Amino acid sequence: MKTSRREAFATSHYNPAVSTPTTPPTPQTIKGLPVSSGIVIGKVLVVDDDLRRVTRRVIPESRVATERERFEAAVAASAGEIKVVHEQAARDMGKEAAEIFRFHLGMLADPSLLVPIKAMIEKEHVTADYAATHVLANLADRFRATGNSVFATKVNDIEDLGNRLMKHLVGAPSSRISEADEETIILARDLTPSQTASFDRSKILGFATDLGGMTSHTAIIAKALEIPAVVGCKVLLRVARDGMRVILDGDKGAVILNPDDATIAEYRRYTEQRALFRVSLAELVDLPGVTTDGEAVHILGNIELPDEVAKVLQHGGEGVGLYRTEYLYLTGPREPTEEDHYAAYKRCVELCAGRELTIRTVDLGADKYTQAQEEIPERNPFLGNRSIRYCLQHTPMFRRQLRALLRASALGTIKMMFPLISTITELRQAKFHVREVMEDLAEEGLAFDKDIKMGMMVEVPSAAIQAEAFARETDFFSIGTNDLVQYTLAVDRINERVAHLYTPMHPAVLRLIRDVSRTARRHKTPISCCGESAGDLEFAMILIGLGLRTLSVSSSSIPPLKRFIRSVSVQQCERVARQALALDSGDQVARLLRDRARTFVPEAFDGRSAE
Ligand code: PEP
Ligand code: MG
Repeated sequence: MKTSRREAFATSHYNPAVSTPTTPPTPQTIKGLPVSSGIVIGKVLVVDDDLRRVTRRVIPESRVATERERFEAAVAASAGEIKVVHEQAARDMGKEAAEIFRFHLGMLADPSLLVPIKAMIEKEHVTADYAATHVLANLADRFRATGNSVFATKVNDIEDLGNRLMKHLVGAPSSRISEADEETIILARDLTPSQTASFDRSKILGFATDLGGMTSHTAIIAKALEIPAVVGCKVLLRVARDGMRVILDGDKGAVILNPDDATIAEYRRYTEQRALFRVSLAELVDLPGVTTDGEAVHILGNIELPDEVAKVLQHGGEGVGLYRTEYLYLTGPREPTEEDHYAAYKRCVELCAGRELTIRTVDLGADKYTQAQEEIPERNPFLGNRSIRYCLQHTPMFRRQLRALLRASALGTIKMMFPLISTITELRQAKFHVREVMEDLAEEGLAFDKDIKMGMMVEVPSAAIQAEAFARETDFFSIGTNDLVQYTLAVDRINERVAHLYTPMHPAVLRLIRDVSRTARRHKTPISCCGESAGDLEFAMILIGLGLRTLSVSSSSIPPLKRFIRSVSVQQCERVARQALALDSGDQVARLLRDRARTFVPEAFDGRSAE
């Protein structure tokens, strides 16, 4: 891919020429967030489903009871339908991802939603359609108005439910999604989890949306189903028209409308090479991650749901380096019980079958929230009461998880990891709770691993700078670059307006990693990296060069990473790391890495520009 041509037509402003039949279609590249990888080429179907704008109609008193009954019937019919979608989703995507629909069922049974709708019908004498859409739209607006991407992720769940209720109340036409025919790429304002889960995969190749963030439920489902997807594109609905040719690049987060023939040909070449490269990677599944000079680099997988362990192993991962347990809270209709936790961890232990398994205690808050937290929005969510801080302030919840985790440790080896540790006191408090829970379990005669390893994430500069002190009290370190970068550079990791400043290549970040790695080596403290950047082949070179020998990455990143590791020597990585550390800016480091990494496994990059 030649950067110059792509940049030449890169614009995200409205261009009326795209819809004028007499002018040749103008290529246009729109950038968004890559949430599910893969590249597809097809034709556009624009979908702008919204809660139907229903006009307010006043009904006579005599019809109030009928309208109430109509509403109750629609709720019952919707609930029945959701149960079916839930079962289908559980079959296609695994039990945990399908839990999202249990959340929808929960909303349908929630008096705080149903009572105001019924009250409106009774007091204001309006139709059930109007009352339902009015109450749901207000709720969606309240979430949107917070301006917080966290709340915004709930909006599409509400709209999903609203559309479903309307279908049963007024027989609303089904979404335009049903108009999809072969090779359709959906471009939508937003998509709901049920819409995404029920895509006809023989017709719909991928999707992009104007709204949405990396952690939205729709993004989770796209990843679970491996549908290429880009979200947060902002301008798609202004510029896209039905039938346009489109390339959806879920690897880089780009939507190319009206690509010219040369660009299509280039992308087709690239996807063919990508497919061949992927096939060649399959041969590596059972081979170890070893550098050309014989040094082992362990590749583990990051998971959000227990069933993903299978994918990690299929892709050749040696185990799980990070299980983000907060997804138990994000996909369920209610707070998970101790038994919910236990069942999830037991499943992981079984699937890992003796391989490494690191379970991180819940990392809620900031971009990952609970129902309870929603009511108290944070001014600066990433600097607020999140993660281990939240757990230490909500100890019954924390201990419920610790009990389940410890009980599961009797079934197979588990390592426990605490997120966002920023002071030594937090680490000590977290371990204190573990010891107390151990005492309770022992008193109750329940089995657990009393020597369970307790480690911490290094994702706050204070922890990195104080690594020496932490090394004396922790069993292992795992560097979380996703957060370490945002806190070191003061760049919100989910704010697209400052995304250009967010880079792990910044020399300040490299120095922190170098220092933590040196400290870990001195103390013989095992250390890994589980941030997204560990799966970036260019950055992995630096990590290996700085002494890291365990990388934990998303399952689809495992095969190319393994290939890369098997193509470089530690010496080469060390040289690159030394050169990088002598540079003054992230841009310089990025340029250096771009040149060096590509010389080792050119086919992993396939000549694509590194934007
Ligand atoms: C990190 O911060 O790098 C990390 C792995 O944790 P999360 O992405 O879940 O915040
Ligand atoms: Mg983190």
